[in-house]
Amino acid sequence: MTASLKIQGLGAGYGGFNVLRSIDLEVGSGLTVILGPNGAGKTTLLKALAGLIPRTGTVLLDDTLLPVRQSGVAVRRGMALVAEGRQLFPQMTVTENLELGGWLSTKAQRAERLRQALADFPRLAERAQQLAGTMSGGEQQMVAVARAMMSAPRLLMLDEPSLGLAPRMVDELLGIARRIADAGTTVLLVEQNVKKALAVADRAHVLERGALVAGGPAAEIAQSDIVRHAYLGVA
Ligand code: ATP
Repeated sequence: MTASLKIQGLGAGYGGFNVLRSIDLEVGSGLTVILGPNGAGKTTLLKALAGLIPRTGTVLLDDTLLPVRQSGVAVRRGMALVAEGRQLFPQMTVTENLELGGWLSTKAQRAERLRQALADFPRLAERAQQLAGTMSGGEQQMVAVARAMMSAPRLLMLDEPSLGLAPRMVDELLGIARRIADAGTTVLLVEQNVKKALAVADRAHVLERGALVAGGPAAEIAQSDIVRHAYLGVA
């Protein structure tokens, strides 16, 4: 079930403006976090991988080349992205939002995955018929993650899932990401909560101005000068 991602010479940007410059990155099983300041290109990286914006270079998912700019293909191959801002349908119930995540699956698969999602997210099971737009920010983020899991991805990408959430909710969401990784889905996480993200991640990479400047086991990156000084505020 777990996926490996090999990224070679990846470039991406907007309207001729290059944000990412020749990214080489391998993402194996477990939980990998991408850290970096605002505007470094973290969201751009996830969008480029998901095929939502044009890119150059190669992306291999389990050694199979992923075509550029076809997000449907990426989903069929087992990739799912939870974008920043969640993008739920606020006037639809939790269940209806989840069912949309299974758009490529059969009715029977969808029913089974919905049952599994509600078992994995008891807080959502309690609110299955509630309109998504009336839920708290953290609950909405849970719906977005559970919806992505409805496509049974082998690689789940999460773009700042804890943005704007209270500390307890941040812990809960990072715990969910960890559990998903432990259950066998490869997780690629973009996160601003550097300390908390490094505590749950297996590996970490630092992106600055469109280039990777450090990478390795999360515990080592947490001790590195670059992260201690620039991100953890250690003098
Ligand atoms: P943040 O943590 O603030 O979300 P980020 O590391 O995710 O930052 P990106 O959102 O990838 O950074 O943005 C990288 C650069 O690309 C920024 O300079 C940003 O202004 C630019 N950019 C992002 N989206 C677009 C867009 N749709 N059109 C043009 N430029 C964009």
